[in-house]
Amino acid sequence: MIKNPVAWPDGARVAVSFTWDLDADSLLHIMHPTDSYRRVATQSLMRYGPEVAVPRIVEMAKRYGVKMTFYTPGWSVERYPRAIEYILEGGHELAHHGYLHENPNERPPEEELYWLQRASEAIRKASGRKPVGYRAPWFKYSEHTTDFLAQEGFLYDSTLMGDDVPYVLESAKGRIIELPFHWAMDDYPQYIQNDDLNYLMPIKAPNQAMEVWMAEFEAMWEYRGLWVTVWHPFNSGRLARCTHVAHLIEYMQKKGGVWFATSEEIAHHVQKSIDAGTHRPRVDRMPYYREPIPELRRT
Ligand code: ZN
Repeated sequence: MIKNPVAWPDGARVAVSFTWDLDADSLLHIMHPTDSYRRVATQSLMRYGPEVAVPRIVEMAKRYGVKMTFYTPGWSVERYPRAIEYILEGGHELAHHGYLHENPNERPPEEELYWLQRASEAIRKASGRKPVGYRAPWFKYSEHTTDFLAQEGFLYDSTLMGDDVPYVLESAKGRIIELPFHWAMDDYPQYIQNDDLNYLMPIKAPNQAMEVWMAEFEAMWEYRGLWVTVWHPFNSGRLARCTHVAHLIEYMQKKGGVWFATSEEIAHHVQKSIDAGTHRPRVDRMPYYREPIPELRRT
């Protein structure tokens, strides 16, 4: 069913990457720039991420010996240093997720680059190294993003949804690895009910949400794919939900054939396999379009 599976290390059938987008309250401020300070309940909801959920998740990861990736806006890195310390002390990856969760594809290219560089610098200051992985805030990847990531020396992106296995994005400025996921792997549709975030979904029980992620896992295990979550500490790090995450890890470990890795480790493995000639990835030339399609142009 998958035409070009990657040979995962030690004959594993699936690569599993637990990735968390540690937005904290960054996106509340960008969505409501004039009165975010008045929306205290939502502030508290989102601060639960760095303050309560991150220590819990890091402790859980340690218990199972699993390393994870935390895509974190630069502003949140600066604002919540204790949470970042937990992540780094746990040996997890700190990756790029914009500066203040701004929308890259709604801004001029020079502004996109400015925020990209500013957030990289915030991560470098906190961790001692520049991030190598990126996920666009709100998945708002722009027609310039591949160029910018390649020129800034990024190894990989994990925003796009174009395959079941890693593939390559190629632009005039270079190549990066894409670690794809899709919307079913996001925890917003399962659990978020908040009008300040303009996101109103019927809240599912954790076991119902897990059914979605488990179905994805079983299929990826069967056909040697890649399983990447887009979860949020303030959301899936809530007690009942996090308990189910722990059960899921136990299930995966018992089943076997699972390579648990950070996104960076997976991207490195794919790059090494490409360099050694043992894997030939699908290559997407980016961007797909630079302007509106000609059929819609006025004559
Ligand atoms: Zn986010």
